Amino acid sequence: MEKESLYYQIPYVKEFDAKVLSCVKSEDKYLVELDAHGFYPEGGGQPADKGAIGDAVLSDVQEVTLKDPSTGEKLTDDRGNIKVKILHTVDRPLTEGETFHCVIDWENRMRNSRNHSGEHIVSGLVHKHFGYNNVGFHMSDVMTIDFDGTLTFEQLMEIEKEANAVVLSNVPVNTLWPIPEELEKTDFRSKKELKGDVRLVDLGGADLCACCGTHVMTTGEIGAIKILSVLGHKGGVRVELFCGNDALSDYRKKHEQLLQLSHMLSVSIDELVEGVQLVLDQSRQKDWRIGAINQRYYEMKAETLKDFDGVLTDIEEGMNNVELRKCCDHFMKHTASKVVGVFGRKDDSIDAQDDNCQWNYVIGSANVDVRSKAKDFNVLTNGRGGGQKEMIQGSATCSESILHKSMEELFS
Ligand SMILES: [Zn+2]
Repeated sequence: MEKESLYYQIPYVKEFDAKVLSCVKSEDKYLVELDAHGFYPEGGGQPADKGAIGDAVLSDVQEVTLKDPSTGEKLTDDRGNIKVKILHTVDRPLTEGETFHCVIDWENRMRNSRNHSGEHIVSGLVHKHFGYNNVGFHMSDVMTIDFDGTLTFEQLMEIEKEANAVVLSNVPVNTLWPIPEELEKTDFRSKKELKGDVRLVDLGGADLCACCGTHVMTTGEIGAIKILSVLGHKGGVRVELFCGNDALSDYRKKHEQLLQLSHMLSVSIDELVEGVQLVLDQSRQKDWRIGAINQRYYEMKAETLKDFDGVLTDIEEGMNNVELRKCCDHFMKHTASKVVGVFGRKDDSIDAQDDNCQWNYVIGSANVDVRSKAKDFNVLTNGRGGGQKEMIQGSATCSESILHKSMEELFS
């Protein structure tokens, strides 16, 4: 944590000039040290800034700890701060000693700052009401906070309400660098033991926390804070949330899906749950009716085949695996056939006599071991599957006549 860095001293500096102190090639990129630090390096759960140094594209900024080459120990200054150098990853070499105009990708920085400030408010409120600590914090497509205690979604909805009230009150976000004597008397959140200069971030009284990240200047800049989910994680919970534009983008995406569903079901968004319930109820009713019709169908077909004692190869259209099994079972019990094969064509767009026609199959017998023929059947029909001695099932890709031929060849 370098107190003198520009991103701390003038938080909203978007552009600045800096001299290149060194430039070293690293694989297909270049690592550059500058004499001014306006780009925030990755740290404290917050990703690094992006931007440009002259014409060079800046893709990453990392803080590297300096060590004594002889002892390997970390170097510190007279205030106890660990000495670091900041390396900027760019796509082309920059001349040492030359000064370049640097531009921070402000949209990216503000996204990180909004999320980081929103995270502090939520963590501070959880700490205040439940006494739990933030023990992990990650920002990527979605932001996550890990707490060392359990919380329900309902409890988090109360936290969300209070957090958004802090946003709407639009109070200033202050950063403080207390001297050690003041720090001793101050009650603040911290994830680890601190040495050297300590930077405290005060989120309008909602939270006071030791932090190295970047923040907004007033809480109103955060925008909406929306908690998405809570899951058990290492004895505590992991909470997913969005702040500001991320919350708005998420709202838009979900609203678009709700609109599509509402058009598909011809109901308003407010009636979607009832609409989906109605479709599910109708679908269950249809399943029941189809089941009853199928049962009558098996019985009538078995009646016409009851004296058939050869190898029965029965072709059906669109029957699913459960129906095929029931059908096969019924024919095994109510016909004289020794071996019954029931085949359901999967896709009506491919002709049954086409070699690429796809089938689900069930083959059963009360007195022949059908499992012993499964491998041969799969070879003949370009299929896969298996099962028990009494019944095998699987899928095949071949013409209908190959199915008939294979059944005769293996089971006659
Ligand atoms: Zn922080």
